[in-house]
Amino acid sequence: MSRRPPVDACECQRCVDTAKRRASRKANPPETAERVASVRRQYRALVAHVGQSGNPEDLDALLALVREMDAAVGEAVRGLRGTNARGAAADGFSWGRIGKAAGLTRQGAQQRWGTPPGAASADVS
Ligand SMILES: [Zn+2]
Repeated sequence: MSRRPPVDACECQRCVDTAKRRASRKANPPETAERVASVRRQYRALVAHVGQSGNPEDLDALLALVREMDAAVGEAVRGLRGTNARGAAADGFSWGRIGKAAGLTRQGAQQRWGTPPGAASADVS
């Protein structure tokens, strides 16, 4: 039987370095800023690609992604507000704070992200 040993059993420098990187990554998952930077790089590359594609349907796909990403922000907003049992406004998750970060009014932010798609009403704190 000539199967290669699993990566973590190999002692070559490359595998040792890879195992160290993986262990470090697991112990220190990327912070939000690092994740944002990664998505930003990919997004800018996609935008540049679409701009040069010569295909209007590529723009349709890009704009659909933009709408999808904006709607997904609502999940983060509702998650942050929902995980704060003492009241959302007390820990900085007020609609005013969220609206300011998004360049919206308090009411605008609440209307945009306060209610999941298909649900009936929003809470107003
Ligand atoms: Zn190796």
